[in-house]
Amino acid sequence: MNNNNNNNNNNNNNKRGRLFVVSAPSGAGKTTLCEYLASNVPGVVRSISVTTRPMRAGEKEGRDYFYVNKAQFLKKIKNKEFLEYAEVFGQYYGTPAAFVELNLRANKDVILAIDVQGAMKIKKKLGKNAVFVFILPPLLTALKKRLMGRKTDSIKQIKQRLALAKKELSYLNCYDYKVINDDVKTASAELKSIIIAARCRIK
Ligand code: 5GP
Repeated sequence: MNNNNNNNNNNNNNKRGRLFVVSAPSGAGKTTLCEYLASNVPGVVRSISVTTRPMRAGEKEGRDYFYVNKAQFLKKIKNKEFLEYAEVFGQYYGTPAAFVELNLRANKDVILAIDVQGAMKIKKKLGKNAVFVFILPPLLTALKKRLMGRKTDSIKQIKQRLALAKKELSYLNCYDYKVINDDVKTASAELKSIIIAARCRIK
């Protein structure tokens, strides 16, 4: 699909892509939205994180995450392979630095779907050089319903995820944009608009 609003010129070697940090409580639909962007907005790539969390039913190595054990993850931390990493629900998650850098240099816009802790680390490192977007589930009750419908988490895990969602919401003001994922179509269009607006910025 050709996009006339795309002022991302891959032939211009001096141009660098932009980093979009997208956070959302677990179950707010961030994966679907980020996948939509990577497939429908030219010049956008989605970073695939490395995690120690076990693979969920329906997930795929290299599409959802790169799955490693704790020793492998710790080795990667030691080798400084992560742009950021965090411990979420007792598991490690990290953003591969080399993938992000390679794509930014190739003038691609890179999307990181990461938690609030990771987003705040990126904010400290890059400040205004990254765009921060928070995806909101319509209501916590709807989020609960979505997590239950996913049938991949136990009741205890759902409770943990809801508690964290409430905590994460308090970071909303640290983000540049918010998108309410009430309807996937509208939320996707809003996210796409945020990317296009960022490309049109003078600085
Ligand atoms: P899940 O286990 O539901 O896939 O993800 C749990 C949480 O970890 C989500 O908030 C997700 O955004 C976050 N997450 C996924 N990858 C990364 C990463 O590379 N870094 C950080 N900081 N968080 C991540």
